[in-house]
Amino acid sequence: MVDYGPMQAELRELALKKDAIIIAHNYQRPEVQDAADFVGDSLELSRMAAGTDAKIILFCGVHFMAETAHILSPDKKVLIAEIKAGCPMADMISAADVARLRDEHPGALVVAYVNTSAAVKAETDICCTSANAAKVVSKIPEDREIIFIPDRNLGLYVEKMTGRRLIMWEGYCPTHEYITAEDVLGSKKEHPAALVVGHPECLPEVQNIADAIESTSGMLRYCKASDAKEFIIATEMGLNYRLKKENPDKEFYSPTKKAICPNMKMTTLSKAIKTLREDRYEIRLPEDIRARALAAVEAMVSYI
Ligand code: SF4
Repeated sequence: MVDYGPMQAELRELALKKDAIIIAHNYQRPEVQDAADFVGDSLELSRMAAGTDAKIILFCGVHFMAETAHILSPDKKVLIAEIKAGCPMADMISAADVARLRDEHPGALVVAYVNTSAAVKAETDICCTSANAAKVVSKIPEDREIIFIPDRNLGLYVEKMTGRRLIMWEGYCPTHEYITAEDVLGSKKEHPAALVVGHPECLPEVQNIADAIESTSGMLRYCKASDAKEFIIATEMGLNYRLKKENPDKEFYSPTKKAICPNMKMTTLSKAIKTLREDRYEIRLPEDIRARALAAVEAMVSYI
């Protein structure tokens, strides 16, 4: 067993010295989560960081998340712990793609999942999270067409929940698509008493056999509140660490060992230390893109 204590202490001391706040996504490595001030989902983290007096935000996550932190905290310096950590789903759509969709569907409102680049958010009308996507869509007047980007699985879930038809982009999260219905059913056979909790980024056939569909924050609340003692968690495996930490008396299983996001795992303690020590990998956006992306995030708040 590696003792991460000294590196975690070094990172914490550095953060104190530099007036930095360390935020880590729920899918980060356990030792990175344990060194962070806050662990959570992307928008939640950016909002928490914005509410602090820290001068620097060190984001342990993927690129679009650090952009979101900058969108909400333009006066703080935002560093991403590992510059190569991108999100394949976010990279599946560009600002030019959104412009083309608008040309094809004039008058449609564009709803963008938060897992998009700032340049894409800037071209959209309303942002949403996996937790509030259905609520946002349900509030849009019936006579407006809706373009939903980039995740088709989340889009299909929203269609099911709201009864609305969406013009969808065919993006997806490769990590969640590794989780098959067979994996889940196999896991259920091994753990018959376990409840299946799935993420809306999962394939529809996985969603259909889940007892609950939740965002990562929703999964944390659901498992804590449930009387069940065992859960099959259909999302990136990193969440299981936090679930177990917060519910030591309960058991959490992953339906497959493939449910690992390689981008999320690129961040290590040593990279985070180097980034903060050297002030490297700053994420800063052109002000017009930041302001237009912020407008989409703020529009979301008025819909929920
Ligand atoms: S888990 Fe999926 S959506 Fe999340 S960062 Fe990785 S590839 Fe992107």
